[in-house]
Amino acid sequence: MTMPWEMRLVINMRIAYNLLILSILLVCIWFVYVSVDSKAYYRKIFRGILWAAVVMYINRLVGVAYDEGFLPCVEWLLVMERTIHYFLTLAIYTLYAYFIFCLVGQFHYYPRKRKITFWLLNFVMNALILTSPWTHAIFYVEDGVSYHGKLFFLLVFTRGLYAIMATVYALMKRKLMIKIFGQSIILLAVFTVIQVIEYLIYQDETLYYSTLIVNIIIFLLTITMVEFYKDGATELLNKRAFRQFIDREIGKPGTRVVYLIKLKNYEYLRQNCHEPSVMVLVKQLAEYMKEYAMLSSIYYFDDGKYGIVVRQRDKFDETAFLEKLKERFCVPFELNGARINLSLFVAMMDVSEGKINKNNFYRYFAACDDLKYKSSDLIEFVRSDNLGLDELQKYRNIEDAIERALVENEFEMYYQPIISTRTGRVVSAEALIRLKDRVLGFVSPEDFIPISENNGKILEISEFVIDSVFRFVKENNIAEMGMDFIEMNLSAMQCMDKNLTEKLQYYIQKYDIDPRQINLEITETATNFDEQRLKEQLLDVKKLGFTFSLDDYGTGYSNLVRVLEYPVDVIKLDKSIVWAAFTDRDSFVTIKNLISMFHDVRRKLVAEGVENREQMSTLRELGCDYIQGYFYSRPIPADEFIEYTRNMNNE
Ligand code: C2E
Ligand code: CA
Ligand code: CA
Repeated sequence: MTMPWEMRLVINMRIAYNLLILSILLVCIWFVYVSVDSKAYYRKIFRGILWAAVVMYINRLVGVAYDEGFLPCVEWLLVMERTIHYFLTLAIYTLYAYFIFCLVGQFHYYPRKRKITFWLLNFVMNALILTSPWTHAIFYVEDGVSYHGKLFFLLVFTRGLYAIMATVYALMKRKLMIKIFGQSIILLAVFTVIQVIEYLIYQDETLYYSTLIVNIIIFLLTITMVEFYKDGATELLNKRAFRQFIDREIGKPGTRVVYLIKLKNYEYLRQNCHEPSVMVLVKQLAEYMKEYAMLSSIYYFDDGKYGIVVRQRDKFDETAFLEKLKERFCVPFELNGARINLSLFVAMMDVSEGKINKNNFYRYFAACDDLKYKSSDLIEFVRSDNLGLDELQKYRNIEDAIERALVENEFEMYYQPIISTRTGRVVSAEALIRLKDRVLGFVSPEDFIPISENNGKILEISEFVIDSVFRFVKENNIAEMGMDFIEMNLSAMQCMDKNLTEKLQYYIQKYDIDPRQINLEITETATNFDEQRLKEQLLDVKKLGFTFSLDDYGTGYSNLVRVLEYPVDVIKLDKSIVWAAFTDRDSFVTIKNLISMFHDVRRKLVAEGVENREQMSTLRELGCDYIQGYFYSRPIPADEFIEYTRNMNNE
């Protein structure tokens, strides 16, 4: 029997078409195998999709051959061809969904139930397909022709469901992905819709096969692009991707936070351990972080540095995340059989709308990166939340200035007179530290004291303070000048220093002075740490002969009863409540009552921040015992202070 030439042409075209697609597929497979980083998990899935497609097209060729009578007309051959065909089309859709879930989300962290549901659908459909030759549910073959079974629509539905699930999921998470990837998902969705419409109208599968190959190529390109944005060793997004995120997102509405996470011991690991095993560790750590930072993206910047971007701050539980990190770092890491203790540095940067612009971000980031490690905590956490870039820079400059001042002995003590309201004479003075840095100029103790408390330099600074104040008392006969004592500030950290008593004792002996000539100012913040120990420590110091003042009364949760539990003789009313008394009536009444209450329990009162005559005379009328403030004098150098006191007290 001879065929008309048109028929032969159509057959040849069908075969050629399938062969063409097969060869394109094989080229794709070759490309996937030889191109970068073929160990990635999602790549394995993608290869699975490609191989499934290859088998499907070969199977199609069998189908074409059967249709055209090149193969013997045995029904089991057609049944087999159809079974393989339906099985593979479903497999491709399922793998596609799985691929998207792995690439975009973190499929293996999903709850078990969700994973089971995902695969169950596939298993049920496969069972229906494989049993179809007997049940005729999905398809059946009659007289050498295959027909759709009653439940065929279920197969179409399931394939569609997988495709829609994956596409919707990818679109939802497109912000978590690199731009190109989001775009190709949309492109893919468009092709799929065209394919469905075409199928519904013509019931013809040609376009389906063509779009499938287009989709595969789109994905291949995307993966290659994605890998351009991925770190080879960790499979995390790399610096390039981070830059793209910053350029695209900073300044847009929303509450974003960026964390810079550094493996403090990385340099040590790099020098002492085998590189591949260090990379394994880096990767493990990334996996661990991924698990607890679900709604964010993680970047790796080389050298043991990670970045985490959280897009919606309110949905991210920072405390829980840090807690999880701590849990992990409590346990030593295994490296080439050795157990190594590691620690992390975590800097949090608030990059919400309006907080920072693109240009400043990199400076901000670099400043965080340059921050010196300060603690030996497993997880050292720095919140640069309310520090803008300038603040951060300032912080670091001040740290440097403190360092310089300690080395070059540039701190100096000033004294601010405290005057008795009864006699108008100088009865004491507060010693206040000053720092005049050659780079920054005058640096306020309000700035550098908190920083030095943060980085632990306060103890060194206070050695200087104690030494200077004790020497001042030794070299000047303060009793003869009419003064009872000099007031010296003790920071919260100093109060908790377990060597405080010994240190003070050492200086008493060094300068041979009477401790009653020194009064120590403590603040309520010292009670935040360990109240019981603080009380015991203060009693020990008191036994040496020192007296105490309670500083900054009125700034904390000052509680009268609690104050009485501490061995303080003098209460210093903070300048904020002193000033408030002169602007609103209620504060005035409060201060008035405070003064009489403290007098009832035999405590003396100092009012700080008195700047004018009106304030001075009113406080005197209210019975306040002592006045400290610019009205009398600013803090001044020791020699000026001596002169000031001589003048005041000898009139
Ligand atoms: P503070 O202990 O409350 O010290 C009083 C502060 O009020 C001083 O600021 C003083 O200059 C300022 N002051 C006094 N009278 C007036 C006034 O009439 N008007 C105004 N506007 N301010 C007045 P300074 O010297 O800048 O010290 C700031 C803080 O730094 C101190 O607050 C204290 O907490 C800390 N500090 C200063 N020196 C030392 C020190 O040697 N050791 C420790 N641990 N902390 C210190
Ligand atoms: Ca003070
Ligand atoms: Ca004060």
